[in-house]
Amino acid sequence: MTGGHHATGVLEVVVGSMFSGKSEELIRRVKRAVIARRSVQVFKPSIDDRYGADLVRSHDGDSFVARPVRSSAEIGPLLAPETSVVGIDEVQFFDPQIVGVVRELVDGGRRVICAGLDLDFRGEPFGPVPLLLALAERVDKLEAICVVCGESATRTQRIVDGVPAYYEDPIIVVGAQEAYEARCRTCHTVPRRSTVTA
Ligand code: ADP
Ligand code: ZN
Repeated sequence: MTGGHHATGVLEVVVGSMFSGKSEELIRRVKRAVIARRSVQVFKPSIDDRYGADLVRSHDGDSFVARPVRSSAEIGPLLAPETSVVGIDEVQFFDPQIVGVVRELVDGGRRVICAGLDLDFRGEPFGPVPLLLALAERVDKLEAICVVCGESATRTQRIVDGVPAYYEDPIIVVGAQEAYEARCRTCHTVPRRSTVTA
């Protein structure tokens, strides 16, 4: 240990569908780091240009302070020198450069914990997450409960106006009622998905 930093950096990635407990797990890990008297900073992608202190919040109500950022480039300049543990929630929404930013943090001796969706609503690998999974020392793939059949859920079902979203539906459908559900592979439905897609 030097200067409060871990001697060796490490990347931990927590993935799974919506409701699988990723935020819970991220919050659990950073709270334990605080108990261990590590300096912790948590970042998340900003929505609606909100700034200042915000929270990572789990569906169960637990929370931890998090700083919203508009891009991965904002993380470096916001980092305090004494920070040895960095949490990043909703990592799937970051730009591709997040991978390089995370690598630098880890190379600098920090423990970085990324949490996010491994798959989008179509069941396709989500943004920078596949690369982060490959680079991680530790990977945890959490499962939710399928709301249809009660088995373990690995997918996120997107429902638009009461029906399963189409494969080619835009990420934002203006004026539509949207919902997301945890579902298993069998109960997950993506109309118009080609079966040849990897
Ligand atoms: P994530 O960050 O992966 O979306 P959260 O950590 O925010 O998940 O929330 C996990 C919590 O959500 C569970 O502990 C449970 O209380 C609640 N929950 C609601 N629906 C489900 C479900 N279908 N399967 C599992 N947990 C669920
Ligand atoms: Zn199911």
